Parts: sequence; structure tokens; C-alpha cells
Amino acid sequence: MKLSIVIPAYNEEQNIFPLYQKITEVLNNYDFECLFVDDGSSDNTFNEIKKISEKDKRIKGVSFSRNFGHQTALLAGLKESENEIIISMDADGQHPPEIIPKLISEYKKGFDIVNTRRIATADAGFFKRLSSKWYYQLLNALTDVEIEKNSSDFRLMSRKAVDAFLQIDEKDRFTRGLIKWIGFKQSIIEFEAPKRMHGKSKYTLRKMLRFAFDGITSFSAKPLKFSMITGILSIFAGFIYSIYILIMYFSGNTTPGWASTMLVILILGGFQLLSIGIVGEYISRIFNEAKNRPHFFIKEKC
Ligand code: UDP
Ligand code: MG
Repeated sequence: MKLSIVIPAYNEEQNIFPLYQKITEVLNNYDFECLFVDDGSSDNTFNEIKKISEKDKRIKGVSFSRNFGHQTALLAGLKESENEIIISMDADGQHPPEIIPKLISEYKKGFDIVNTRRIATADAGFFKRLSSKWYYQLLNALTDVEIEKNSSDFRLMSRKAVDAFLQIDEKDRFTRGLIKWIGFKQSIIEFEAPKRMHGKSKYTLRKMLRFAFDGITSFSAKPLKFSMITGILSIFAGFIYSIYILIMYFSGNTTPGWASTMLVILILGGFQLLSIGIVGEYISRIFNEAKNRPHFFIKEKC
């Protein structure tokens, strides 16, 4: 049984070697290759990978021409992988290699995809935990694919499942959703995520928001309908209000109603901007698909 371990890494120079040590320790009885995808790091990440790959033939690396993002790096790693079992994990040690044998035993039970769920994350702040919980509730309310809260991109896939996944050519990718969408027999196991070994989270607020929007807009068209519904409701409310205004007008009760005018303008203006924003999100998806550019460029391999 041969394994491929796929590890996206963005500015993780201090984490590459300790992670490599841990992986080789845990997997010394397995036949495996380890594929690091350097997502256009500006630090020494790729040099670290190169150094290790010169000594250990099981270690391979590809380096992107720039930062294309975690989800794309994951895709590149899966494309490069050659073995029967493929495991994806983070480079920062938050996906402990000690769990890998557990993933494999699930695979042996006949599952094509073994997902994982964090039961605790040592260094996730209050904001990250709460926003993540709300986000998954919203996502599941809006979409048809059921995605567990606290799911992570630490997962095992069979060759069959990876080959299916690679047939999806979508550009703005939300891997967690696509994995559910391709089907196959899937199971989920829990793990405790330790603190990041070195450095800070590479998911900036901006990247997190992008990821969150991609998740919703790639699996649900409901927000588009939401603008329609709020639009209809506003028109209805406006109609009732105009009857009231007409009654006031004909009974000679008109007063300069600055407050109510402002209120209507603000509420309607808000809904309109929101609706345009939602439409904009989907148009930007269509735009990215229509350009049909390659997902990434590889600068160097080792
Ligand atoms: N990552 C990446 N490209 C990016 C951002 C992150 O390849 O643009 C990698 C990062 O190196 C790590 C994984 O994605 O291996 C998860 O990122 P991180 O640990 O920073 O996220 P967090 O655990 O804080 O959610
Ligand atoms: Mg992390």
C-alpha cells in the first residue's frame, strides 16, 4: 500500500523540517511519498523542501510562481500525487501525523474518503471559533451539500476519489464542498488540533472571507433569490406605506416628514446595495470561469 502525503505550505520555513521528522517517524513502516506545494512563499520554504528532498528521495516539492492560495495548492498536490492512498494536511503541525494510521484503518474498512473534524483547536481565538460555527450553520442552511462544522482539509482519499475530484475544473474552489459533492463512501473521524508549531496563521481575514464567500456561492444560488425576496418585500411595504401617505395627503395632514423619508431611503438603499453585492459575487464567479485561466503555474520542482 503506497501513500502520497500532500502538504500546501505558504511561508512555513520553520515548520517544514519538524513536520518532515514527525511524518517519517510515524510512517516508517509505510511506503510513502511526501509532496510539499510551496504556494509562492516569500521566505525560505522551498529551500527547506529542496534540502530535504536531496537527502530523502521520498520527499518531493513543487513551487508556484506566486501565491495562488491554499485551495489551489491542495489541487496541485493532488494532481502531482501518484499513489493509491492520498492524504492532505497542513504544514504547520495542526494536523498531527499521528492520526494518519487511524485514517488508513478507516480506508481499510472500505471508505474512499476519510474526512476529519477538529474537536478542539488549541490556539483558535474566540472570534475564529464563533465565526466558524455561525458560518457552517449558514452554509448548511443555504446549500444542499452537508458540511460538518469544524471540518478541515486534513483528509484521506483513495485514488478513485482523487481522480474524480481532479475532473472538476472549477476555478474558485471550495474543496470541502467539492469532496462531499463527488460522493463515494465517506466517513469522518475526530482529532484534537494542537497549536501551530511556528509562525502565525497564513489565513488573513481577507483570505478567510474569500474562502467563506466561495463556499456559499459555489454551492448555493439561494442568496440570489434572497435579493429577489427582499426586493419584493420592500415593494410590498412601500406600497402599503404609500396608501398611508395618500390618506394623510387627502385628509390634509401632510407634514414635512424628514425622518420617515430618510428611513425609507436608507432601508431601500441598503437592500439595493446588498442585492447588487450578491449579484456581483456571482458575476465574479462567472467572470473567473469565463476567463478559463490555468489554476496555477509551477516555477520549480524538486
Ligand atoms: N496556506 C497556503 N496558501 C495560503 C495560505 C495558507 O498554502 O495562501 C497553507 C498554510 O501554509 C498551511 C495551510 O494552508 O499549511 C493552512 O493555513 P493556516 O495554518 O495558516 O490556517 P489556520 O490553521 O490558521 O486556519
Ligand atoms: Mg494552521
